[in-house]
This record gives sequence, structure tokens and C-alpha cells, in this order.
Amino acid sequence: MAESLILIVEDNARNAKLLRDVLQATGYRTLHTVTAEEGIEVARREQPDLVVMDIQLPGMDGKAALRELRKDPATQRIPVIAVTASVMPLERAEVLAAGFNGFQGKPISVKAFLEEVKTVLGGGAPAGS
Ligand code: MN
Repeated sequence: MAESLILIVEDNARNAKLLRDVLQATGYRTLHTVTAEEGIEVARREQPDLVVMDIQLPGMDGKAALRELRKDPATQRIPVIAVTASVMPLERAEVLAAGFNGFQGKPISVKAFLEEVKTVLGGGAPAGS
């Protein structure tokens, strides 16, 4: 089985690089977009196994992007993990209520992030591990 493909939607260059580096080092393939609008387009075209979505984005935010992905039969089954700078308990509850499959606060804990990715992808180890 090919390595899972993960789309990162993140406008912060440093955080995008961190997410990409830890995912690639774990054996996943990655794609990256800076905006939600681009992310939705890439998700439709590339059919990633998972989307890692920043909430605070220029233009459309991550919650609106999730709604767009869920509306479209082409993307509605793709799991989406939210990444947000807000780690307030209320924000976490709101994000999960919005329908995200997971939630990570910034700064990212690499271990917790990779565990959640693995869980959301179905518990299988990435190729090469
Ligand atoms: Mn952001």
C-alpha cells in the first residue's frame, strides 16, 4: 500500500514546514497550500487521505473550508484535523462540534500530532516504519 497522502493547509511558513517535515520523516507523502480556497481545489483533484487544516487563514477560514469539503461528494469523506493557535477548551469543543476529525493546538506537539494522524488514518503504521 502506498504511503498515505496528507494535504497541509497552513499560511504560517514555519508551521507548514514543521508539519511537512515530521509527516515526511514518518513516511507520509505531503501536499501544501497556503489558503483554504487552494486547499479545497487540491483536495478535489488529489484526493488526499487526510487534510491538516489551520483554522486562522487569509480569506476563507478553516471552519468554512471544512463546510465546503463536507458539502462536496468528492471530498466529504476525507478526514480533517484542525490546527489552531487557540487552545481554549471552548475552542476545542467548537472545533470538534464543527465536524473536524481531530484537533491540535499550536505550538504543535510532534508526538501528539503524529499519534492523532495515525489514529485518524485508521491506526495503520505508515509505510517504511
Ligand atoms: Mn494561520
